Amino acid sequence: MNPRLETYLEGEIRTLRSKGIFRMPRVLQSAAGARVRMDGRDIIQLSSNNYLGLTTHPKVVAAARRAIEEFGAGPGAVRTIAGTMSLHLELERRLARFKSTEASLVFQSGYTANVGVVSTLMQEGDLIVSDELNHASIIDGCRLCKADRAIYRHLDYDHLRDILRAARRKTTGKLLVVADGVFSMDGDVSDLKAIRVLCGEFDAIPMVDDAHATGVMGMNGRGTVDHFGLKNDWDIQIGTMSKAFGVMGGYVCGSRPLVEFYVHRARPFLFSSSHPPAVIAACIAAVDVMETETDLHTRLWDNTRFFKDGLRRLGFNTGSSVTPITPVIIGSGAKAARFSDELFERGVFAQGIFFPMVAEEKSRVRTIVMATHTRADLDEALGVFSEVGRSLGVI
Ligand code: PMP
Repeated sequence: MNPRLETYLEGEIRTLRSKGIFRMPRVLQSAAGARVRMDGRDIIQLSSNNYLGLTTHPKVVAAARRAIEEFGAGPGAVRTIAGTMSLHLELERRLARFKSTEASLVFQSGYTANVGVVSTLMQEGDLIVSDELNHASIIDGCRLCKADRAIYRHLDYDHLRDILRAARRKTTGKLLVVADGVFSMDGDVSDLKAIRVLCGEFDAIPMVDDAHATGVMGMNGRGTVDHFGLKNDWDIQIGTMSKAFGVMGGYVCGSRPLVEFYVHRARPFLFSSSHPPAVIAACIAAVDVMETETDLHTRLWDNTRFFKDGLRRLGFNTGSSVTPITPVIIGSGAKAARFSDELFERGVFAQGIFFPMVAEEKSRVRTIVMATHTRADLDEALGVFSEVGRSLGVI
């Protein structure tokens, strides 16, 4: 190895170890479900984004199997050359219908959707106004373009108004207001109504990343735009199919011109191949299930209320969460890592979350319930949280 590289890597790894947060990912040895086999143990999974349990839904799995037989293993080219399959178009029609928009465009992931959508639209002379806790993929989209950026304090719409007012005095360029619908680390929710009003007042474009809201918020999981009753009065909705849809992929939903623009300009779409047929077919089936098997959505929320109440009753600090994502805020990174390890030893997996994902002093374990957890799973998990919380002096 290049000696300079070796010294650099050793230094970086030493720093992680000295902070007590050096952890290679645990290994899943079964399908992603509510109870899984991980690192040789049978455990209750409380860290998955598979909100509705669709990764293993029989209709989703069967659709993938059928597509591989009919369409083969891969798409053969990037979509703009020769890789757009009828399946891709069918998925885009289904997503647009689900989100009540004119059109949608599928990207390889939620990450590339955010990066592509923000960086392609916003140019020199424009301004992106972003909630301070937005997802890394939105931040990276901002970094990839020459537009200016301004950050508003988390959920602080007075601050957002001040920024927009000052910006409108200075520029006639595009203003984009972008926010996560549900915030992935805290489980709190952007007020899209407030954002929509401000966008109207200052001629700004509203954009929401509903990665954690789709399948969770709104009628049968249609997302935060639906939840706030905004119907189609919202320009850009991003989502992922790697969370509640249980598969893989990202998308943007909006007007037809918006989608046509990205087909011709978004670099992740133009220069990287799309999903294999099995993945796309599984996504279509997942949309179907979400539209028709609405009891999954009801069960997700029943479980959410039960588990969140349980954690609060035990005395944990669960922050401001109002969704199935419930953080248990511990304090230092080292203590949160220890807490997560102790849970795991007792059969529960809740991932430790540290800087740079959250501020160091707000390190936490993050829990996410699924529709497919049973009451017995959640009772058992609460018992383990109680034991570990007491033994580490957190409650
Ligand atoms: N946005 C948010 C808010 C997310 O939490 C994530 C996933 N961590 C993404 C986008 C990226 O989605 P994907 O995993 O499909 O790339």
